[in-house]
Amino acid sequence: MSAPEVVILGAGIMGASTAWHLARRGVRRILLLDRGPRPGAGSTTRATGGFRAQYATAINVRLSLLARAQLQTFERDTGIAPGYAPHGYLWLAETERELAALAEARRVQRQAGLCEADAVTPDDIRRLNPAVAGDGILGGAWCPLDGFLRPADLLAGYLAAAERLGARVSWGAEAVGLELDGGRGVAAVRTEGERIVCGAAVNALGPWAAGIMDGTGFALPVTPLRRQVASTVPTAALPATMPMTIFVGDGFHLRVRDDRVLLLWPTPGVPGHPFDDSVEPDWVDAVVAKAHARIPPLREVPVDRSACWAGLYEVSPDKHAILGAVPGVPNLFLINGSSGHGVMHAPALGRLLAEIVCDGHASSLDVRPLRPERFAEGDLNPVSEVL
Ligand SMILES: Cc1cc2nc3c(=O)[nH]c(=O)nc-3n(C[C@H](O)[C@H](O)[C@H](O)COP(=O)(O)OP(=O)(O)OC[C@H]3O[C@@H](n4cnc5c(N)ncnc54)[C@H](O)[C@@H]3O)c2cc1C
Repeated sequence: MSAPEVVILGAGIMGASTAWHLARRGVRRILLLDRGPRPGAGSTTRATGGFRAQYATAINVRLSLLARAQLQTFERDTGIAPGYAPHGYLWLAETERELAALAEARRVQRQAGLCEADAVTPDDIRRLNPAVAGDGILGGAWCPLDGFLRPADLLAGYLAAAERLGARVSWGAEAVGLELDGGRGVAAVRTEGERIVCGAAVNALGPWAAGIMDGTGFALPVTPLRRQVASTVPTAALPATMPMTIFVGDGFHLRVRDDRVLLLWPTPGVPGHPFDDSVEPDWVDAVVAKAHARIPPLREVPVDRSACWAGLYEVSPDKHAILGAVPGVPNLFLINGSSGHGVMHAPALGRLLAEIVCDGHASSLDVRPLRPERFAEGDLNPVSEVL
């Protein structure tokens, strides 16, 4: 390949989606660099595979709706099925305050074009997920078109389809720096052994995105946050079609994947060790105790400690993605900070970034709420602790 038009740093779901969308737009010389030996070294393959449009801000709802439309054509576009399974997302509220937060989010969702989400009563909840011990649950929220996808398949689909259109992926290639040329912006990307001259660069480095920005004049506010997942042994205790079920109060949630029940509960990372992605035995005990109290059919199902894992969210200060050109560096683009929603939003964000790179602006959605400048301007998106 002669000098690439675009070098994409990171071949996780963000880099892969961007590559395919750029290639589809006719960009021919695309090079993805990833330090991993093969696909899936970062967060993407650690994701549990949830997909939802029930969010509390219009931009996140719209990203999900755009992504959902793209999932419908994904297999035709890439040759690989994304595993989209609309088994629903069921939110459970135990206080009036939580119910009110869900109602307020629903108002935003409706305005943003999500018509399928609705309030549910305790009776509805018993019908939608009979495994939940209902005591104390006042009501909730439900969207039947939310559900699941398969992160590794989505990644494989985008990579294979981008490569068919001429993109190249270099595995085992760690980007160590960006070379800037005054007025023009990024002139080259440096790896340990190479200086790669390029027309433009995309930072798709997930939780590691901030480190490469030295010398660009922009401090990318993306930090890693550990998320742990506990897995039961294979079991038929809960059906494969069970919706993602989330307790609003403490964020405990569960789903069934490949015959196992996955249990999640957000906790802070390890103080002083932001990239630590170990699983804490005490955390596993605590999340299992929550599961036994709330989901009686799981009381007889052992946890499989060897199958538990952890990974890193890539968190921005307002928990929304950061998308667009770096202020003052017009040919360096960011697709970062999805804060735990990156797999589901990647089909939309990759498409939007390709529009920005090729046309100078996004046309599928108004992405102003995601602009990198918002932090310096103090114009952050509202953060919802609930959804
Ligand atoms: C436990 C867990 C559960 C999750 N569940 C969901 C979910 O249900 N739904 C959802 O949508 N999202 C979920 N997420 C979030 C999702 O995984 C991320 O938002 C998404 O994968 C981010 O994609 P990415 O491409 O930006 O990052 P990554 O997949 O991390 O890709 C970044 C790539 O950059 C490479 N890299 C790093 N540094 C360098 C370097 N210097 N040079 C070259 N390459 C480098 C890495 O090897 C990696 O391949 C979850 C995350 C975790 C941890």
